[in-house]
Amino acid sequence: MSKFWSPIVSRLTPYTPGEQPKLSKLVKLNTNENPYGPSPLALEAMRAELGDNLRLYPNPDAEPLKLALAEQNAAHGITPAHVFVGNGSDEVLAHAFQALLQHEQAILFPDISYSFYPTYCGLYQVAYRTVPLAEDFSLRVDDYLDTAAGGVIFPNPNAPTGCLLPLDEVERLVAGQPDCVVIVDEAYVDFGGDSAIPLVARYPNLLVVQTLSKSRSLAGLRVGFAIGHPDLITALERVKNSFNSYPLDRMAIVGATAAIKDQAHFDKTRQAVIASRERLVGGLAALGFDVLPSAANFVFARHPRHDGAKLAARLRADGIIVRHFGSARIAQFLRITVGTDEACQALLDALQAHL
Ligand code: PMP
Repeated sequence: MSKFWSPIVSRLTPYTPGEQPKLSKLVKLNTNENPYGPSPLALEAMRAELGDNLRLYPNPDAEPLKLALAEQNAAHGITPAHVFVGNGSDEVLAHAFQALLQHEQAILFPDISYSFYPTYCGLYQVAYRTVPLAEDFSLRVDDYLDTAAGGVIFPNPNAPTGCLLPLDEVERLVAGQPDCVVIVDEAYVDFGGDSAIPLVARYPNLLVVQTLSKSRSLAGLRVGFAIGHPDLITALERVKNSFNSYPLDRMAIVGATAAIKDQAHFDKTRQAVIASRERLVGGLAALGFDVLPSAANFVFARHPRHDGAKLAARLRADGIIVRHFGSARIAQFLRITVGTDEACQALLDALQAHL
């Protein structure tokens, strides 16, 4: 801490990202990346952009990408005016915390959920109240109703549990809090959930946030987006335009646009992840793990007789990295990204040797 730091920065607890080691010999199952790689059409589009074009500033509205996302969701009444894009969904969420949450009342999010939310609250001075998940780690919508809130945010599927809130329950929450914005963070929705995007036309207080980092396997490109009523999007654009007039660089615009249009690659790779997830769940169950029902590209599992931190450390010594969270209620768990079948088998073999 320094006397030159602002009071906000002095009090801030930054988010700690998962380890990003050199990949050479490690089996990396810790940050929910997709092992199958981006669309070849996206790579081709980026190669074509890599040249003299980089001399020029990008389109300040990332228009081709907004158009592609609107087209994809046209059946739900989505137009480019309903779309906001940013440098990863983390940035989209940061702008949403600044633009759309009220300060008179605390905002609500689950305990347990994405640990970036309290950091954004610290950064933007938003008061929050966490709402415990049920015993089985499900989100109880009733706990979010009949209470004044400055906003609500939750991941669906939840992170790091992987548990899904069914769409009718999402709708009950959005409808039950009409006076504040409800942000549904759908980073993992393509691996088994129903998106809330079809509800956007009916609920002006709903903002759905998605990313190309997971199901499109483009974590390195940093592209995320939000879909909501144009009034919400205008507020996000105001924050963005006061921060950086160019939300995405030229490579990101062409790569993300091509990736969104490549439905065949998307379907193939997400089905492969879902199939590997089911095999991984079966393998973990056979080793005696309790595995929470996952609709994501990771699983959350605990062994009744083995400490989570110790197992994670032993796997690390074997060159296999998974995520372990220190918080008491989930300290027994490992969060394991669904890798290739080969990577998952390496993990299962290593676990078997340690049990
Ligand atoms: N939301 C949730 C729930 C996440 O787990 C992540 C990934 N860490 C993100 C948002 C952010 O993803 P990105 O910034 O790569 O889009």
